[in-house]
Amino acid sequence: MTSLTDCRALDAQDPLRSLRELFALPEGVIYLDGNSLGPLPQAAPERVARAVREEWGEGLIRSWNTAGWYELPRRLGDKIATLVGAGEHEVVATDSTSINLYKVLSAALAIACADAPGRRTIVSERSNFPTDLYIAEGLCRERGLTLKLVEHEEVAGAIDADTAVLMLTHVNYRTGAMHDMRELTAIAHAAGALAVWDLAHSAGAVEVDLRGADADFAIGCGYKYLNGGPGAPAFVWVHPRHAERFWQPLSGWWSHAAPFAFTHDYQPAPGIARYLCGTQPILSMVALECGLDTLLAAQPLGGMAALRRKSLALTDLFIRLVEQHCGGYGLGLATPRDHRLRGSQVCLTRETGAYAIVQALIARGVIGDFRAGRPDILRFGFTPLYLRFEDVWHAVEHLRQVLSEDEWQRPEFNQQHAVT
Ligand SMILES: *Cc1c(COP(=O)(O)O)cnc(C)c1O
Repeated sequence: MTSLTDCRALDAQDPLRSLRELFALPEGVIYLDGNSLGPLPQAAPERVARAVREEWGEGLIRSWNTAGWYELPRRLGDKIATLVGAGEHEVVATDSTSINLYKVLSAALAIACADAPGRRTIVSERSNFPTDLYIAEGLCRERGLTLKLVEHEEVAGAIDADTAVLMLTHVNYRTGAMHDMRELTAIAHAAGALAVWDLAHSAGAVEVDLRGADADFAIGCGYKYLNGGPGAPAFVWVHPRHAERFWQPLSGWWSHAAPFAFTHDYQPAPGIARYLCGTQPILSMVALECGLDTLLAAQPLGGMAALRRKSLALTDLFIRLVEQHCGGYGLGLATPRDHRLRGSQVCLTRETGAYAIVQALIARGVIGDFRAGRPDILRFGFTPLYLRFEDVWHAVEHLRQVLSEDEWQRPEFNQQHAVT
């Protein structure tokens, strides 16, 4: 049995414990939803206010040069690169994950089909995040290709001589199950296909080594584990061997070699800059930088490897405590126990009542979320930057009380909201 005292002892020894101070977490909240929207970095309100008052208010148009606005997508891209195993000048922060997927999937299809004409399919996972499947479906419709969807464990076997692109999300949003990026990329390459990876649930959450895995393209989300704020810019990475082979389809002026030459013909920028499109949301970029800096603050303490160690310890503890204290209430585990196959979240299943249980937990200040399906899922994200082992203990104790006293059956917890 693991006690609250044991958990407090783990916190006292935690080399990352000081990082919690970088966040403005509300009193009385245990936040297990950083995988959907990361919390507010302490530095963000003042930094964004300064960007508004000084850079916009006083600097006006001059701030594109004097406050470094123009460089922000590249500067933030370089910070993100250090978290995902990419090189300098290989990443830009820009647009949304969905839009960036459209760009890189278009590029990957064009390159794959140029190198091996006749390939007709994109292979992906049936339970991939819907926007990824919708974007792929749209591109397939436009180009007369087929989207082949298979179950998680069938992916490797589904790649064949007809595959143009393997498009996967590294860590599954519903279950927290993680693919082996290196192995699946190698299988795709051996079959003559390219690999596009969505890092929405892995950038800042697990160790990612894009170069080491020899991936071709990657995109990821700014407002989840990167703590960039609601609707924060996303990012895009292209392996340098492909970066200049393709004009991405959203060839706006920010992707031009000389945007301020205002020429009427298009010349793509060298390198990753051609994956930009138009003018970027500077205030959101400024907030995203504050989020990225919370992760970079972990670098001297061991960086992503140390964060990953703590993340696995937190999710192991949560699984163990749920089994110790919440047995007999019909909960199942959707997340793999094997560390190599687990992201930074734990998903519990229940035949009925999952939505109401999550609502009852939120009313107690334990914020997770609900994902519909068969069975329904109670989803808990564990962010080692600010979560304590003690928080895990209290979260499970709240869950036990919600279940043992049938608190979740109350009518107010059974009304559906628009955003779950
Ligand atoms: C969160 C998430 C997205 C989000 O896309 P937006 O364009 O930011 O709405 C996309 N893909 C995956 C896999 C996600 O988890």
